[in-house]
Amino acid sequence: MRVLFCAAECAPFVKTGGLGDVVAALPRSLLAQGVGVRVLMPKYRDAFAEIGATETVARFDALMGGPATVQAVRADGLELLLLDAPHLFDRPGNPYVQADGSDWPDNHLRFGALAHVAAAVATGTLDGDWRADAVHAHDWHAGLVPLYLSMQGAGAPPSMMTIHNIMYQGLFPGEVRAELGLPEQGFTPDGYEFHGQVGFLKAGLMYANKVSTVSPTYAEEIKTAAFGLGLEGVINHRGGDVVGILNGIDQEVWGPATDPLINSHYKAPNVKARAANRRQLNTRFGLTPGDGPLMCVVSRLTEQKGLDLLLNALPDFIKAGGKLALLGSGDRVMQQGFEDAALAYPSDVGTVIGYDEALAHQLQAGSDAIIVPSRFEPCGLTQMYGLRYGCLPIVAHTGGLADTVTDCDTDPNHGTGFVFTPVTQAALSDALMRAIACFADAPRWRGVMRRAMKQDLSWDASAATYIDIYGAIRADTGVAA
Ligand code: ADP
Repeated sequence: MRVLFCAAECAPFVKTGGLGDVVAALPRSLLAQGVGVRVLMPKYRDAFAEIGATETVARFDALMGGPATVQAVRADGLELLLLDAPHLFDRPGNPYVQADGSDWPDNHLRFGALAHVAAAVATGTLDGDWRADAVHAHDWHAGLVPLYLSMQGAGAPPSMMTIHNIMYQGLFPGEVRAELGLPEQGFTPDGYEFHGQVGFLKAGLMYANKVSTVSPTYAEEIKTAAFGLGLEGVINHRGGDVVGILNGIDQEVWGPATDPLINSHYKAPNVKARAANRRQLNTRFGLTPGDGPLMCVVSRLTEQKGLDLLLNALPDFIKAGGKLALLGSGDRVMQQGFEDAALAYPSDVGTVIGYDEALAHQLQAGSDAIIVPSRFEPCGLTQMYGLRYGCLPIVAHTGGLADTVTDCDTDPNHGTGFVFTPVTQAALSDALMRAIACFADAPRWRGVMRRAMKQDLSWDASAATYIDIYGAIRADTGVAA
């Protein structure tokens, strides 16, 4: 079976969040199970400096306003197809936004072009030797792929649309449909229109043969207005075509026994080396070691992540003996809030504003706990990395956080962390206090840690589920193998 992935990110080349990790790890797991996966993504400036020679497999004289090529290359165990369209992607910085934080004004053309090329690659019109049996589109950036495929009529490969976060919907003024070559008859509420706008994610949800999201609980939550954010009607309309498949983690990239980005390695049940990693973090974040737990945050700083609640909970947390090391970036007010907290409590709170892959690993390997108080969380990866590294997760009961962490006070025999609900400052504070109390009981803490580190977080089972779905949609659409 041959599957084409289409996505805007793939780690380690380009990553702004969990999407990048998943688009790297899931193909590797599929490859290990015998699926021929190719990953199509934009060739951003700087992202591919070290991958070596590429082979040009297709050329476009005019793709959304300029010439472009598709280049094939093997890198990091993956078969990549890079869309090299300098007028769209040869720019500095972030894949989605300009230096001032506003969206690139031509994002509809950039990701429309990506989807257009995905549909052409998938049907074999560009590279006659390779045709996809199924296409897997990820998030709004690839939302037009199912629509462009549907425009090719019967015989085009079937598609699957995965929602990694329904908050980002790719909405653009209705007029852009002409530039994107979208069919006029589809510009209705039953098609790709979203209240007068062109909805990239909506298009994917309407035209894909199957829709998935990244945890079973989030798949239920997005049927409601509070979580569906305007797309709940579409999710309900698709009914049984929407499934929740839990993300896994890449245990080669995220494993405390081998992780090249951490200094002291360890393997359960012997976690003594964590102490050296913790000392390093204290130095890096300027913290004074104490008897209480060192907790960390590794996160985008956005409303979704609920870290404003943590800011407000800090005085009581510190009084109870907690220490905090935070790595994150995003919302300016929140960044300032944590920088101010580090100034107000220099020996107890340390803040690093920015994006630092190595430090993200080191925080998991040396902190005692990781705090993830999200208001919603499609799956969440940092709590899973926490489980694997014995950095106990303290999480809100929502989405994938609810599906991956079991509260150790409510369920002492199976608990792997601390879970709180509702997502309020009081409930978060209570969970932080429970964690501090548990930490003081060293044998109990070690027991929870051992259980956490044993949890199966591999991609194997979820990748097998995806393979079943690729097979089923291929059979439904009658596309020959
Ligand atoms: P989301 O995709 O919503 O940002 P996830 O928990 O699914 O959240 O994935 C976040 C990923 O991004 C993890 O791999 C995490 O380690 C990483 N990450 C988040 N913020 C930073 C940061 N400031 N520096 C380094 N890595 C980060």
